[in-house]
Amino acid sequence: MRLTRYLLPTLKENPAEAQIASHRLMLRAGLIRQEAAGIYAWLPLGLRVLKNIERIVREEMDRAGAVELLMPTLQLADLWRESGRYDAYGPEMLRIRDRHERELLYGPTNEEMITEIFRSYVGSWRSLPLNLYQVQWKFRDEQRPRFGVMRGREFLMKDAYSFDLDEAAARRSYQRMFVAYLRMFDRMGVKAIPMRAETGPIGGDLSHEFLVLAQTGESAVFCDRAVLDLPVPGADVDYGGDLTSLVEAWTAPYAATEDVHEVERFERDVPAERRLLARGIEVGQIFYFGTKYSVPMNAVVRHADGIERPIHGGCYGVGVSRLVGAIIEASHDDQGIVWPDGVAPFQVGLLHLKHGDGRVDAACESLYASLRAAGLSVLLDDTDERPGAKFARMDLIGLPWQVRVGPRGLDNGTVELKHRASGERREMAPDDAVAFLR
Ligand code: ATP
Ligand code: MG
Ligand code: MG
Ligand code: MG
Repeated sequence: MRLTRYLLPTLKENPAEAQIASHRLMLRAGLIRQEAAGIYAWLPLGLRVLKNIERIVREEMDRAGAVELLMPTLQLADLWRESGRYDAYGPEMLRIRDRHERELLYGPTNEEMITEIFRSYVGSWRSLPLNLYQVQWKFRDEQRPRFGVMRGREFLMKDAYSFDLDEAAARRSYQRMFVAYLRMFDRMGVKAIPMRAETGPIGGDLSHEFLVLAQTGESAVFCDRAVLDLPVPGADVDYGGDLTSLVEAWTAPYAATEDVHEVERFERDVPAERRLLARGIEVGQIFYFGTKYSVPMNAVVRHADGIERPIHGGCYGVGVSRLVGAIIEASHDDQGIVWPDGVAPFQVGLLHLKHGDGRVDAACESLYASLRAAGLSVLLDDTDERPGAKFARMDLIGLPWQVRVGPRGLDNGTVELKHRASGERREMAPDDAVAFLR
């Protein structure tokens, strides 16, 4: 991508409305634009990050055996009356009437609709286990939308729903999602710690929240530092096998959100030097809720013995748009964002440092072509601005690597490579730069 043909509205000044680093940086780096309180347009650079997060989520969900579908954002109120949640949900639900005076709502979550789909098509034990997921916009009329996309009103969520014959099988489905979550957050370059959590309005008796530690997080959390060093399972993890010991290793160290925190157990089980009292950003939550929806909505399957019984369900959310903010909150410095490789909007920023210099033009064009041929995504700064402004903008938008091309380096046959995260810089021949980055 050439910057002169792109839309990257970066800001030099800190926007007054932003209270935390990630919100400030998302506005300054031209990732989002607020259209109404808690409602954002995703500008081109921000959308690339959002898509990268979505891609990782999909790859890990698919690997764990989940199947993607897509449900509408609008739902009929009557569906929610079946489960009894239409009245219970309260003012967070955006309620809408169409021209025929039919009552609709903009979905804050989809347990009812997925249960309706499931019961329409699945009737036999042979079809289970089944895990269906989507990546879709949600609306919750939050009382205090704030911190940019972290607490938006319209936000992108991955929501998955598992269907099993009995509680034991449902717990295995829960474990598969637990492991898939460990993997997806790790691939996004953030540490998201699974913590025991309250189940809230979704209901049920088993739940973990995944939290990214950050001072600006909205939840107080308590954990054993041992959980920070546990190894994340590799891509070869066997989702068909027994994941109990893996999940137990991750749930053995104390880790709880404030709602379920037990001070005495914390102080008894965790040595003082390992006690971590911190704040966290909830980037995902998983629930086992049993027959909470299948009983009122009559989602039953015939078991091998011929008897129909309600299915045991679980649901599994990831805050896809919130993650963009959470990742920045965990990965930035005074100059700007420092994108982890897995989610960076472009892998390489190519800087043309002398407008109107034919040799620099030629070297940039050649590098632009060969870096892309090597499979890298490249943003070429071909504007006529001064080098200082270009350096500052590249640091602000946080691409993992910069390749700086100027006449002085070319005199020596070199370009300069800069690694954004470490700040390390080195000179090398253009071909070596391509070989190094590929
Ligand atoms: P919170 O406690 O932050 O209000 P929640 O517990 O109500 O979140 P869930 O119902 O568990 O949210 O939804 C799944 C995920 O969706 C959450 O873990 C979070 O990452 C994300 N999410 C929830 N509400 C918002 C929001 N208003 N803006 C952005 N992401 C959100
Ligand atoms: Mg909420
Ligand atoms: Mg919550
Ligand atoms: Mg939650």
